[in-house]
Amino acid sequence: MDNYILISTLNDFIFCPYSIYLHNVYMETDESIYYATPQVRGKIAHTGIDKKTYSPRNDCITALPVFSDKYGLLGKIDLFKVAEKKLIERKYQLKQIFRGQIYQLWAQYFCMQEMGYNIESLAFYEISTNKMHPIDIPTQEDEKEFSDFITKFRNYNPSDSITVIARKCQHCIYNNLCDKAEVENVYQ
Ligand code: SF4
Repeated sequence: MDNYILISTLNDFIFCPYSIYLHNVYMETDESIYYATPQVRGKIAHTGIDKKTYSPRNDCITALPVFSDKYGLLGKIDLFKVAEKKLIERKYQLKQIFRGQIYQLWAQYFCMQEMGYNIESLAFYEISTNKMHPIDIPTQEDEKEFSDFITKFRNYNPSDSITVIARKCQHCIYNNLCDKAEVENVYQ
């Protein structure tokens, strides 16, 4: 497996796979936002729990770089409570939890498992309401769904036809660059 997918792009891929392609073409000439190289993975493997990621005061690891060879993923976790073995992603507001956001949390979970961490629970924490939203640990069936999704992401070809949804295009930041959009975005 030569290329690693960034965990942060999983939710965007569900929003519209073509948006990942447009971002890659127009915004990042070095492709670092879409795929990271195996060299980056090597660097991460040696990061571990260092001074920058672990705070003994509140027993938390934050912003830990993670990777999975199994799924070809790279990213960073938000927060891991070591004693509770709880992996948390903080969001300012969570009106709705999208499947893509759950895939991102699962992706962090699978990465950390592969790196040898023991995780017993997952959650989103909504800062604006100070609420914790527990998420189930993925079952075998969930992992199959996740694996199929990663395969779909990896095999995506921008010349494939996609279903263009006007409501999404209206809120898409790539609208002005997109040859598939049939409506203008709301930010004009
Ligand atoms: S404008 Fe529409 S079709 Fe184009 S990338 Fe955005 S959501 Fe996808």
